[in-house]
Amino acid sequence: MGQRIGIFGGTFDPVHVGHLVAAVNARYDLGLDRVVMMVANVPWQKAGARAVSPAEDRLAMVEAAVDGMAGVEASRLEIDRGGPSYTADTVSQMSALYRDAELYVIVGWDVSAELRTWERMEEVRDLATLVVVNRPGNPPPDGLHEQGWRIEEVTVPNLEISSTDLRARAATGRPLDYLVPAPAVRVIRERGLYSVLG
Ligand code: ATP
Ligand code: MG
Repeated sequence: MGQRIGIFGGTFDPVHVGHLVAAVNARYDLGLDRVVMMVANVPWQKAGARAVSPAEDRLAMVEAAVDGMAGVEASRLEIDRGGPSYTADTVSQMSALYRDAELYVIVGWDVSAELRTWERMEEVRDLATLVVVNRPGNPPPDGLHEQGWRIEEVTVPNLEISSTDLRARAATGRPLDYLVPAPAVRVIRERGLYSVLG
């Protein structure tokens, strides 16, 4: 039997506890051998709309955050590939690298509602099972089964935390502690990310 591998893609600008809770619970509920936090090189749906922190800084924050976490790791696959990061390319690459693995693509509810906008969505659908991380009592988006997705649902307490809000907090000097894992906060300080954090 091959490994069961979760691919959890994101911009992680910055990584926060909502991401880690999603990763840990997807791994636990689905019995995944590992969850790979896949740091987007150029998040094509976000680039242009705002300044995105350098990929190496975002990777350093994720690496710090997952250090010592069992079965959760950071990946630089999309950064090394360069260019815009399409999940279809990542899943194809992972399925070639891990031939007998079972792949799971983990997304939050907001992302699961936008899969139709993904580049070559069918490739992802044909190579992986979709894992929707959702709050209790909230149904998954309509139409996913009809579009042919294999779906698993993982329920976690709703954590109303987003990287967008965290960047705004940091910019006004408010603390990120306990919203962002402490080792990642240290990376933010050391590298002077999101300006005002002293
Ligand atoms: P931004 O505010 O810049 O969009 P974000 O906090 O949504 O950032 P992303 O890097 O865009 O973080 O998200 C990566 C993945 O994590 C997505 O699948 C998203 O749905 C999921 N996610 C983000 N925040 C949470 C949260 N609080 N709880 C569960 N999943 C989350
Ligand atoms: Mg988001």
